[in-house]
Amino acid sequence: MNSKQVQELKALLSSPKKIVIVTHWSPDGDAMGSSLGLYNYLTKKKHQVTVITPNDYPSFLEWLPGNKKVINFSEKAKPAKAAVAKANIIFCLDFNSLKRIDTLGEEVGKAKAVKCMIDHHLQPEDFAAFMLHDVKACSTCELVYDFIELMEDKKYLTKDIANCLYTGIMTDTGSFRFPSTQAKTHRIIADLIEAGAENSSIHERIYDDNTEDKLRLLGFCLEEKLTVLKEFCTAFFHLREDELRRFHYKKGDTEGLVNYALSIKGIRFAAFFVERDGIIKTSFRSKGDFNVNLFARKHFNGGGHANAAGGMSDLTLDESIIKFVSVLADYKNELNPSSTVKKAKSKKASV
Ligand code: 5GP
Ligand code: MN
Repeated sequence: MNSKQVQELKALLSSPKKIVIVTHWSPDGDAMGSSLGLYNYLTKKKHQVTVITPNDYPSFLEWLPGNKKVINFSEKAKPAKAAVAKANIIFCLDFNSLKRIDTLGEEVGKAKAVKCMIDHHLQPEDFAAFMLHDVKACSTCELVYDFIELMEDKKYLTKDIANCLYTGIMTDTGSFRFPSTQAKTHRIIADLIEAGAENSSIHERIYDDNTEDKLRLLGFCLEEKLTVLKEFCTAFFHLREDELRRFHYKKGDTEGLVNYALSIKGIRFAAFFVERDGIIKTSFRSKGDFNVNLFARKHFNGGGHANAAGGMSDLTLDESIIKFVSVLADYKNELNPSSTVKKAKSKKASV
C-alpha cells in the first residue's frame, strides 16, 4: 500500500462505515486473531463490523474477544450474505485467493464494497483495491498491527486487540520459533504485552486445551500412522475417516500433528493426509529451502508459504499417498542432497 492509498483508506475510515471482515476456510489462530483484532479496533472507531468465517474453527479459539459476534457462513448464509451485500468495505484477512473462502467467495466477488486484502501468503490474486501484503510478515496479525500503526491509531490498542494479535503471531510463528520470527516480531510482541496481552495465559488457552481423545489420537498416530521415508528425508501421517470417528474427532484435533513428523532428526519434508467428508485434505511443512507452496500448488491444488502449505486431493486416501510417494522421486536431489553426493562418489569409485 503506497502513501496515497494509506491516506485514501484513512479518509474512508474517518466516518462510520458498514464493514465486513472475512477470513479463510478452516480458520486458524492467525485467521481468527487478525479478524477479531481488526474487529475490535474498527468497532472502537465506531464502525459497524461483521466478521464472517466460511466454516467452523477449533474451540480453543472461542475465547478470543468478539468471538460471539462471528457469523459462520456454512451455518448462517442468509445474514452473512446480507452483510456482504450491504458492506461499504470488505477486509480479506489471511488469504489472497477467493477460492480460499469457498462459496463465500462468490458473494465477496460480486459485492460492491471496496475490498482491502491484508495477507502474507505467496502469489496474491488481484481482486482487492487496497493490499497490505508482505510475504516476509510472520503473520497477518503482524500486518494488522502495521495497519493500525499506518492509520496512526496506536492509541486504540486495547487489551482485547492485543490478546487477539498476540494469539495469531504466536500460532503462526510456532511460538516464536519459525524463521519468519524477526526482531520486529518481538518488538511488536513487547508492545502488545504493554497494551495488556495476557501472554502466558494465551499460551495455556491455546495449547493446554487438549481433550483426552485428542491426546490419544496423537498417540495412535505416532505409534501406528507415521511413515518415514529416509531416502527422501520425508515423513508423513495419514488418517482415515473411521479412525477420526474412533477418537471422537473434533475440529482442531489434528492441528500441529504434521510438526511431529518434521521434528524427526534429518527430516526436511513432512506431510499429513486426512480423509474428511469424502475429501482428502493435505498439510505440508518443510525445513530449509524445500518450497512446499510450489509443491502444494503443483500436485495438490493448494498453496501457502514456502515452509508451510496445504491443499486437497480428489483421489482416494490410498491413491493420494501413492501419488505423493511417486512424485517425491522428482524431488529426491532437492530433499536429500547427500544421496547425489554418494551416487557421484560411488560412480567415481567404479570408474
Ligand atoms: P495448514 O496445513 O495448517 O492447514 O495450512 C498451512 C498453510 O497453508 C496456511 O498458511 C494455510 O493458509 C495454507 N493452506 C492450507 N490449505 C490450503 C489450500 O487448500 N490452498 C491454499 N492456497 N492454501 C492453503
Ligand atoms: Mn497466517
